[in-house]
Amino acid sequence: MEKTIEQICDEAFKEINAAESSESLNAISVKYLGRKGIITQFLRSISTLPSEERPKAGEKANETKKILEKAIKDAISRVESEAYKTAGFIDVSLPGRSSFPGSLHPVTQIMRQICDIFARMGFNIAEGPEIESDYYNFEALNIPKYHPARDMQDTFYVSDNIVLRTHTSPVQVRIMEKRNPPVKIIAPGKVYRSDSDITHTPMFHQVEGLMVGENVSFGDLKGILTNFIHLLFDDKTSLRFRPSFFPFTEPSAEVDILCVICRGKGCRICSYTGWLEVLGSGMVHPAVFENVGYDTSKITGFAFGIGVERITMLKYGIDDIRKFFENDLKFLRQF
Ligand SMILES: [Zn+2]
Repeated sequence: MEKTIEQICDEAFKEINAAESSESLNAISVKYLGRKGIITQFLRSISTLPSEERPKAGEKANETKKILEKAIKDAISRVESEAYKTAGFIDVSLPGRSSFPGSLHPVTQIMRQICDIFARMGFNIAEGPEIESDYYNFEALNIPKYHPARDMQDTFYVSDNIVLRTHTSPVQVRIMEKRNPPVKIIAPGKVYRSDSDITHTPMFHQVEGLMVGENVSFGDLKGILTNFIHLLFDDKTSLRFRPSFFPFTEPSAEVDILCVICRGKGCRICSYTGWLEVLGSGMVHPAVFENVGYDTSKITGFAFGIGVERITMLKYGIDDIRKFFENDLKFLRQF
């Protein structure tokens, strides 16, 4: 008889411990302690026992009844306080979390616009490796070892003869080695220089352009670039060609555009000059053609290099290049 009440008590405790709501605990209370409950029926059955066993069994059953009553009461306050604690973490005044659709990075958007414009003018898109040999990055472009022009570029060296490309110009050489003129390509991609401040990042994007054939002149270069700038900005954006130096072009020119912010009046963005430097260009140096085996008596061509971040900054009025690479969604969602 004593063992039976202990078994009932064990079962009741298992159910109490497993209960997770006050509703299920109330049901357990009814099951064991209610008018028709298991303990109540057990107490009634005591009268059928031999008279010497009744006091002990009754005492044991009443004790169990009290223990279960207290256990159920404690369990109810436990589940209610847990529910209260969980509810306490919900700040109903916070705005809800919604998901946002992804979008293209502003640099990618401008890169695609640039490629689209040149594709419409008949340029093909070409690509090349980002880890480049010293030969393609420098030597084939008329920048021999110890040439002072190498100081212009802060190069990341992988080993003595392997570099992270400092410009997309090596693609020109790789394409010309494989194809006979005419060649009309643009090479978009990542380039690397050991430089970091508000207008420089160690990795940035360039679009290199190359047009080679018989009778390709500086006039063609001016025409193509003017058309490009007019399509990318608008046809009121005039261009200025300034003499410059690059080892792989001769003559070379930096191209400025009329400041897109102040329209030439002078502002902080254009350092009060009214002009913005946007790209480098020039007629391909005969030494580069000789390196790829082209006949320099017949073949001429021009090349240019556009900094994509620079164009994107001008297009959207962004003053710090590092914003492109900080992955701040507040910034990126504006585009
Ligand atoms: Zn300006």
